[in-house]
Amino acid sequence: MDLTFTPQDEAFRKEVRAFLDASLPAHLRDGTAATPGVFAEPDISREWQRILFEKGWLPYNWPVDCGGTGWTPVQRYIFEKECALADAPSLPVLSLKLLAPVICRFGTDEQKARILPRILDGSDYWCQGFSEPGSGSDLASLKTRGERRGDTYVINGRKLWTTHAHHANKIFCLVRTDASAKAQAGISFLLVDMDQPGVEVRPIIGLAGDHEVNEVYLDDVVTPADNLIGEEGMGWTIAKFLLENERGGSCHAPKLLSDIAKLRAAASSEPNGDGGSMAQDASFMSELARIELTAQALEMTELRVLAQLAKGLPPGPQTSLAKMVASTVRQQVDGLAMRLYGYAGLALERQRPLYGANPPEPLYKKAAQLAAPRYLNSLAWTIFGGTNEIQRTIIAKTVLGL
Ligand SMILES: Cc1cc2nc3c(=O)[nH]c(=O)nc-3n(C[C@H](O)[C@H](O)[C@H](O)COP(=O)(O)OP(=O)(O)OC[C@H]3O[C@@H](n4cnc5c(N)ncnc54)[C@H](O)[C@@H]3O)c2cc1C
Repeated sequence: MDLTFTPQDEAFRKEVRAFLDASLPAHLRDGTAATPGVFAEPDISREWQRILFEKGWLPYNWPVDCGGTGWTPVQRYIFEKECALADAPSLPVLSLKLLAPVICRFGTDEQKARILPRILDGSDYWCQGFSEPGSGSDLASLKTRGERRGDTYVINGRKLWTTHAHHANKIFCLVRTDASAKAQAGISFLLVDMDQPGVEVRPIIGLAGDHEVNEVYLDDVVTPADNLIGEEGMGWTIAKFLLENERGGSCHAPKLLSDIAKLRAAASSEPNGDGGSMAQDASFMSELARIELTAQALEMTELRVLAQLAKGLPPGPQTSLAKMVASTVRQQVDGLAMRLYGYAGLALERQRPLYGANPPEPLYKKAAQLAAPRYLNSLAWTIFGGTNEIQRTIIAKTVLGL
């Protein structure tokens, strides 16, 4: 792996930095538009999406023949790194980074023409209907049925933990279309309109008081057969492709390293309770350094995945490694923030949103106000997208060959 950036890469970095300086408004920047959740709230992410759309940079990880920017993997990395440094919010991940690559890879020309432009211009906001009660890690056991009736599929079942289903107008689902086939072989990938009778979204409130996830009940819900992606029974193959993108489609290290740098900077002004600052607390600082080293090692792994992509190879099971380490470091960073802010960090503000016209006044500082909800929320990192235990099994089997 060649770690030096070419003069063209450095010129690109300057261009991205100048664009962010000029076009990323202060009210969208993390810290101001702070959400404790994994995804930014749609009013934040969609505004940022529109800005990137107008610039032509939105489909930066799509293939060129689907309208992608044609950036090299290194340019994509530079873009994500600069966005993290500039405190840019996250984009609507489920639409742009999970579904769109699936449509590009498995969709027909008609599906590409119908679905991709509406993702880009923000007309459609998608959620992901994979997990069900009893079918999370054991996803292939899912029971939601999709029955072919003429030119339609009729869907019955229940999806669980569906992030942002209450904001979405569309859902991509795994459904069982053949109960007689082997578990994986009987699954298909269907696109479904949420705005129709028979779709009911029930909220699940997380530990920190956030409404991010939901139950979705599907009762005789109808979708046209041309919303089937790939062939009937191909759902598992498509899901595996999508999950590789979910685990490794973005670089996690830039944001983690930027958050670590913020903690380091804040440590010099936070009191240690003994007349000095937390920057003099040897145990805190050595923990911070240890976490930073792991995040730097993660960055190398993510660059290795990018080098693989540059050669035209799939991201591969290393994405499981990246997802597992990133999730663990995320929790450690958010745990350290709690430690840094001491009692002030323990106060759990329940009002939402924590930004906008009338944000709740922080008792101490905004960063301290965010510490507890972020810490509680980040406990989900080692669960969604496949738990750490499941990633370890994938790594053992496919990376280590055990
Ligand atoms: C915040 C959040 C957002 C989510 N968003 C979405 C979404 O938008 N769409 C969606 O489809 N899903 C979503 N999920 C669901 C997520 O993918 C599942 O929660 C996850 O796959 C785990 O499944 P489960 O909850 O059924 O737990 P289980 O599979 O029941 O696991 C329970 C425990 O047992 C362990 N375990 C299970 N099987 C094994 C095994 N074979 N070996 C070792 N240990 C094992 C697990 O690691 C875990 O610790 C979300 C989850 C969370 C928490």
